[in-house]
Amino acid sequence: MATKDREGHLRFVTRVYRLRMLGLALGALPVASVLYQVHAGLWLWAVLLLNAFVWPHVAYLQSMRSAKPIQTEYVNLAVDAALGGMWVALMQFNLLPSTLLIAMLAMDRNSAGGWRLMSKSLALLIAVCLATWWLNGFRLQPTTTMLNVIACVPMLAIYPVWLSLVNYALAQRVRQQNRQLDQLNRTDVLTGLCNRSHWLEAADNEWSRYQRNQRPAALIMLDIDGFKLINDRYGHAAGDQLLSDLARLLQRGLREMDTPGRLGGDEFGIVLPETDLERASAVAERIRLLAENSQPQHSGQRIPWTVSLGVAAVDEGIQDVRAWMHQADLALYRAKSQGRNRVSVASGRGGPAKRPTPV
Ligand code: GH3
Ligand code: MG
Repeated sequence: MATKDREGHLRFVTRVYRLRMLGLALGALPVASVLYQVHAGLWLWAVLLLNAFVWPHVAYLQSMRSAKPIQTEYVNLAVDAALGGMWVALMQFNLLPSTLLIAMLAMDRNSAGGWRLMSKSLALLIAVCLATWWLNGFRLQPTTTMLNVIACVPMLAIYPVWLSLVNYALAQRVRQQNRQLDQLNRTDVLTGLCNRSHWLEAADNEWSRYQRNQRPAALIMLDIDGFKLINDRYGHAAGDQLLSDLARLLQRGLREMDTPGRLGGDEFGIVLPETDLERASAVAERIRLLAENSQPQHSGQRIPWTVSLGVAAVDEGIQDVRAWMHQADLALYRAKSQGRNRVSVASGRGGPAKRPTPV
């Protein structure tokens, strides 16, 4: 079993251990109150003490040492249910203590394993209860005295609150893990920027915002020039480092509201809300210069590198986010075909791309 899986299983065992210690200690009180009333023999008192104060530790050690802790713990949970059924019969169906034990056990099983575990546990409880009742000569004394009521109070007051706290902490952990998973699903592992699908969402949001209130927005597509050669000359690891450096450069050089993302390979995209074409091309030119003037090193040697960028602003001629990206892609393609290390701007409404005025 993978270490991580085993750790998770042992956490489950520890959680059940704590609940079992508390539940059995509190549950021993109503049982003791009935045993006292029916003048139970010493051996029954001994069984109760063993069940309440020794069994939780035995069960815990068994599960912790087991090669399959979860399976062993489920066997232990079945033993709990069987013992619960035995005590209900030995209490001669004293109404309140019996109902309390059964209800708490059902609640506990429901939170540990849902409806299936609860119904199986209750079936076992009933079977053992009937067998014990038969062995005990079908004795029946359902009347609950004040002493029994008082003995039930600690369990009634403490156990459900404790169980709900444990469940709340568990739900919080699941929520936190889901958030982390969501974050991972949205992030490009190498650069830490948004991945393609998350970036597309950001671009789509900006396009929809334009449709609603005609707010200006622009896209920049960026691609490293001759990246294959850089990989070939300096190695894949140096190429990876360059991709990360570019991501840092983008994060430093853009506003908080802009969304840079890695679209795949050496292609990056930037969503610029509240930015018209002129300002967006100025931003693109600034990034181009930052890349050109940065000094990435490999084994003490400077790696010369440049980027090409295509810019497109949203306008009423653009039908959807794909068309908008296509405009920016065309502009990028033009920048490449005109000699690289330059910014090209889409003229809008599907027209040809042009070079920006230098800033
Ligand atoms: P151009 O100027 O036309 O863009 O030329 P180019 O060599 O950069 O061509 P292109 O953009 O098509 O090449 C992208 C290369 O990026 C191809 C692939 O070997 C490399 N690449 C893709 N993903 C990774 C990566 O995660 N790490 C590294 N180191 N290289 C990658
Ligand atoms: Mg490239």
